[in-house]
Amino acid sequence: MKKKLICIACPIGCHLEVDVENNYAVTGNQCKRGVVYGKKELINPTRIVTSTVIIKNGIYNRLPVKTDGEIPKSMIFDVMKQLNEVVVTSPIKMGKVIIENVCDTGINIVASRSM
Ligand code: SF4
Repeated sequence: MKKKLICIACPIGCHLEVDVENNYAVTGNQCKRGVVYGKKELINPTRIVTSTVIIKNGIYNRLPVKTDGEIPKSMIFDVMKQLNEVVVTSPIKMGKVIIENVCDTGINIVASRSM
């Protein structure tokens, strides 16, 4: 069985085909990153998550944050739920850990900018 997907590893967006019954062999890729992405997307899909949290005393009302690594796609909803409950206070430096080990993923939520 072949699964079709679009590579998101760069803006070219190659149309990949992944042969599930043939050790997840990937075709349609223009570079090796497509092979890595195609396999991972079917075996263990992960994503960097970017979002915002409420900040008090900042120049804006919300502080951009992101995961400092990829988390399983299935955990995104839980992580977003936890981010909705976070309130931080300025000043915050870019890279500051806002939530450590978010939802037990081993990944931290960090500030994407200073504010
Ligand atoms: S396979 Fe390579 S060239 Fe094609 S979209 Fe993915 S990263 Fe870009």
